[in-house]
Amino acid sequence: MPSARTHDTITIISGAIMTPITYYAALEYTQLGPSTALACSFWLGSAHLLSGIMFSPDLDIDSTIDNRWGIFFWIWRPYMWFIPHRSFWSHSLIISPLLRLGYFVIVVYGLLFVMSLGMSQIGLIPPAFHREFVEQIYTLIKTRPDEVGAFVIGFCTGSAAHTIADWLVTKGYWLLGRYGRRLRRRYRDHQ
Ligand SMILES: [Zn+2]
Repeated sequence: MPSARTHDTITIISGAIMTPITYYAALEYTQLGPSTALACSFWLGSAHLLSGIMFSPDLDIDSTIDNRWGIFFWIWRPYMWFIPHRSFWSHSLIISPLLRLGYFVIVVYGLLFVMSLGMSQIGLIPPAFHREFVEQIYTLIKTRPDEVGAFVIGFCTGSAAHTIADWLVTKGYWLLGRYGRRLRRRYRDHQ
């Protein structure tokens, strides 16, 4: 499989190509104004990089990727335990990035809930952080649907660039293997 570094390079190059294309395509084929088109291409490009580099499909194994989360590496432990390596659930075009995004949102919600609970246990009256978090997401979807849509698309393409590279390499090895076998057989027939 391509190394984490190779995947990063693919993510950065594909993101750099896609961002300006998104801007011009949004201006050309949608009703969006220049400033919204610019914002959408920015969010799509950023989500593409974020997804490929920090939310990589290879979070399904103990790899360089979870180390990038520093002290928060443990967030991905349960994900790693339950998601089989290189399965549909971690390496697919749409479901797997959405699953990682959803998983992350649930983890953040859980942490905020525990934080609120902990503060109330020691006698403080904390704001309901977890509820606030959900409200913020809801408001964002309602007030900036185009940008949120661009972010989700970019999040999927960032993961897809990884998955497609993995597929190509696997297919490449398979083809090379087949070709190699045929060559060997031909060589044997000659004798
Ligand atoms: Zn992979």
